Amino acid sequence: MNSATKSVWSGEEKYVVAGATQVPIIQSVVFGYDDVEEWSDVIEGKKDGYIYGRYKNPTVEAFEEKVRMLEHAEAAISFSTGMAAINDTLFSLLKPGDRVVSIKDTYGGTNKLFLDFLPKFGIEVSLCETNNHHEIEAEMKKGCHLLYLETPTNPTMKINDITRLARAAHDVGAIVMVDNTVATPINQNPIKLGADLVVHSATKYLGGHADAMGGILCGSTDIINKVYEYRMITGAPLDPNAAYSLIRGMKTLHLRITRQNENAYAVAKFLKTHPLVEEVYYPGLEDDSEHELAKKQMSGFGGLLSFSIKGGMKTVNEFLPHLKFAHLAANLGAVETTVGPIHTTSHAECTLEERKAMGMPEGLIRYSTGIEDASDLIEDLQQAFKIIEEK
Ligand SMILES: *Cc1c(COP(=O)(O)O)cnc(C)c1O
Repeated sequence: MNSATKSVWSGEEKYVVAGATQVPIIQSVVFGYDDVEEWSDVIEGKKDGYIYGRYKNPTVEAFEEKVRMLEHAEAAISFSTGMAAINDTLFSLLKPGDRVVSIKDTYGGTNKLFLDFLPKFGIEVSLCETNNHHEIEAEMKKGCHLLYLETPTNPTMKINDITRLARAAHDVGAIVMVDNTVATPINQNPIKLGADLVVHSATKYLGGHADAMGGILCGSTDIINKVYEYRMITGAPLDPNAAYSLIRGMKTLHLRITRQNENAYAVAKFLKTHPLVEEVYYPGLEDDSEHELAKKQMSGFGGLLSFSIKGGMKTVNEFLPHLKFAHLAANLGAVETTVGPIHTTSHAECTLEERKAMGMPEGLIRYSTGIEDASDLIEDLQQAFKIIEEK
């Protein structure tokens, strides 16, 4: 099956009932048994089944199965949010004295985990310059239990060579975890490139409609079971209602991503030519510094881009409200175009000093293309630029 077909069909067959063609929302906290022995067998893991909502739920499993198939993984486990997925994975696999190697450009919330929370528990984190593969490799040689990558990064759109870094990580016995939220499984499959674990904020492209939150981790049965044991106790399971919305959203995943890849390319190309635009970051552009590497591991370049305009923060604040076809909001990956400066979006969790230390340009605008017509988006940007120019 190709990914377009998987988006529609995968994971559902086992969970539909009474001839329904759609996976039902099983809105039940508990699952009862007539036979106490059978109940015990399920508790002890001798038999498959459902016990309690914090453990497993059929609607939630259908969602997990769909993403698992798209990511070519052995197993998958979902969470209430993307951050819960990242947090639970790190805390279930690491222990005091362990060392994590990662990059400076990870998502704001992830960065906070690295800077504030993991060190509090005696886990050392080394954050490297995102583009410096030599530095990342050298850091791993000093000791590494887990290599954490995000590629492309949100919103700087930098690319890490997954195959190369996974090989170096495996040489020192580290687990390789990749945040694939921005790329989506339609454009990139980190497990096929050598990663051990793939994590998504399902809130973004997987759901695609900005109406449900979720997170998911895919990988080997062995590792997923370890994370499941932790999540089962600490909480943060995906709610069955959210799982249903995510499944429904994913039916059009391939369609949406195909359009968003095209729209982002068209918008980035336009921005490159505009005199008010300073820099455009989109790995799909042939002359982008990340293009060659992106081409090696991605089949499409995604719907997210970022750019800076002349005049700094003051002009950014004036410019954004003039856009008609873009929500000014802290989200990405929805069917509607969404835009915002990074200090209110991807890196809202970080202080100005932290953003500076990470090298995040303060005036950078994150632009997440929706599925609108590209020429309408370009016209919209054009009219907003015109108002600024005439001031
Ligand atoms: C949004 C996001 C997250 C966090 O996901 P939530 O669902 O908001 O918790 C993690 N990584 C990336 C790249 C994101 O964009």
